[in-house]
Amino acid sequence: MSLVKTIGELEDWRKRSGRKEQTLGFVPTMGYLHEGHLSLIRRAKAENGLAAVSIFVNPTQFGPGEDFEKYPRDTERDYRLAKEAGADVVFCPEADEIYAPGFSTEVEVKGGLTQKLCGASRPIHFKGVATVVNILFNIVRPDRAYFGQKDAQQAVVIQKMVRDLHIPVEIVVCPIVREKDGLAMSSRNMYLSPEERKQALSLSRGLAKARGLLASGEEGCDRAERLAEVIGREIRKEPLAKPEYIEILDGGTLEEIERVEPGRKALAAVAVRFGGTRLIDNTVLSLEEK
Ligand code: AMP
Repeated sequence: MSLVKTIGELEDWRKRSGRKEQTLGFVPTMGYLHEGHLSLIRRAKAENGLAAVSIFVNPTQFGPGEDFEKYPRDTERDYRLAKEAGADVVFCPEADEIYAPGFSTEVEVKGGLTQKLCGASRPIHFKGVATVVNILFNIVRPDRAYFGQKDAQQAVVIQKMVRDLHIPVEIVVCPIVREKDGLAMSSRNMYLSPEERKQALSLSRGLAKARGLLASGEEGCDRAERLAEVIGREIRKEPLAKPEYIEILDGGTLEEIERVEPGRKALAAVAVRFGGTRLIDNTVLSLEEK
């Protein structure tokens, strides 16, 4: 596996790698890799001749007062794990390699897609994400790029950007990887105190209850309001949990829905604060077509 820090070094790798004869799968990350990231890298390698991973804590997607400075970093460990998962190259640039001095261009997916859910409390987040992913796509030039369903809104925003801008890359969205007890893996889980970690299980428990309610088939179980209520009840049982949003939306467009329609995927998405830590989780809700 090659480790490269500059765009020039990545170009050299491309020439050596036999890139022309093979497809390239790409996994953008902010590092501090866990099984969620590794599942994307393994899939990228399984579906392509070559797999590239980027590790870049992107400053422009963090708002003032967010955790950019303290975001966990462990690059040596990340290289080892990426290599074991099958990465052929890890691109780990400095900020000025991505944003050259005088940089002044932004990519923004407009409208509700980026304003609701996480966009409501993180107004500049998705502009930072869309811009950096665009830059990384231009540098890495992959055939396929792999994103986690864990960040469901991000995946929808990236898919929209790729469609709107005709970016020649296939977006592959991969399932959420969870700890054994159900907590969705996240680099931010390490911020949680033992008590917060325990109470954080209410997110996956609440989402499971919503799936259970929908599967029960009882009168009104497909109503978005009821499903959100069930999730909220579970989360609010925990004294340290401060829910930011609990929403049931259309899985493709993120538009509000009244009920889960047979044959159409809905998304139950939650964001909850525990002290200074903000966790997100989600599940797809679906009913078979009649
Ligand atoms: P991050 O390093 O948090 O920017 O995440 C990099 C990629 O890994 C994103 O596409 C995330 O959605 C994905 N990812 C993060 N956590 C998980 C998880 N628990 N399961 C699956 N994918 C994940």
